[in-house]
Amino acid sequence: VVVLKDVNKHFGELHVLRDINLSVAKGEVVVVLGPSGSGKSTLIRTINRLETIDSGSIAVDGKQLPSEGKELAQLRAEVGMVFQSFNLFAHRSILENVTLGPIKVRKAGKADAETQAMKLLKRVGVADQAKKYPAQLSGGQQQRVAIARALAMNPKVMLFDEPTSALDPEMVQEVLDVMINLAGQGMTMIVVTHEMGFARKAANRVVFMSEGQIVEEGDPKTFFTAPKSDRARDFLSKIL
Ligand code: ATP
Ligand code: MG
Repeated sequence: VVVLKDVNKHFGELHVLRDINLSVAKGEVVVVLGPSGSGKSTLIRTINRLETIDSGSIAVDGKQLPSEGKELAQLRAEVGMVFQSFNLFAHRSILENVTLGPIKVRKAGKADAETQAMKLLKRVGVADQAKKYPAQLSGGQQQRVAIARALAMNPKVMLFDEPTSALDPEMVQEVLDVMINLAGQGMTMIVVTHEMGFARKAANRVVFMSEGQIVEEGDPKTFFTAPKSDRARDFLSKIL
């Protein structure tokens, strides 16, 4: 579903992505790990063109990512993104947060969009909050709404950038549970997270980055118990 070939990216002098090659198959859950500054966020932000690339190519669902215009908006709609900060629309109700995309981008009717939105809110466990505004919800609830909002666009792939790291500890699991559920239902997911429990439980593959490169990848069990590179061993010794 997602194919990156020889992707390179600089921020000025800084070479943040170095010859990245990564293919993510349909239904696959890939967890991206690595030290701070290794390029994890930049990598997933390139996939929906929140960041441009200097060379290489990125295809989503067999289509090359265009750089601008209407096509870009269409393609972006295929890629759901959930950030550390929930980024909900503060002046819209929870229900409107979820229906806005389908109505504006997908030209869905209001009634259909609302029916669909309520289903999704139910799926993430916040249907009873539909009439409220984001500020009235806990962080964990807001993040679950953000996931429902992304799902409302019927994405081909979901990208998560540290979705639980801004949450109070007691709310982390409720968000992870939604993600584990989503993975179990066959959603293609690329997840940057420091939650090793999630990686162990839900990931098909772990990708370890260091200094802009993919240094190592493998199934979670092998990666966590027998990392091959010194850099991965060093990283794991600090976080486990
Ligand atoms: P963290 O775990 O701290 O979130 P990360 O692996 O997500 O780190 P990135 O945010 O991708 O790392 O950053 C990779 C490198 O690129 C860092 O050195 C960072 O300072 C730099 N960088 C990121 N965004 C920009 C930007 N907009 N302009 C300049 N440099 C940037
Ligand atoms: Mg980051």
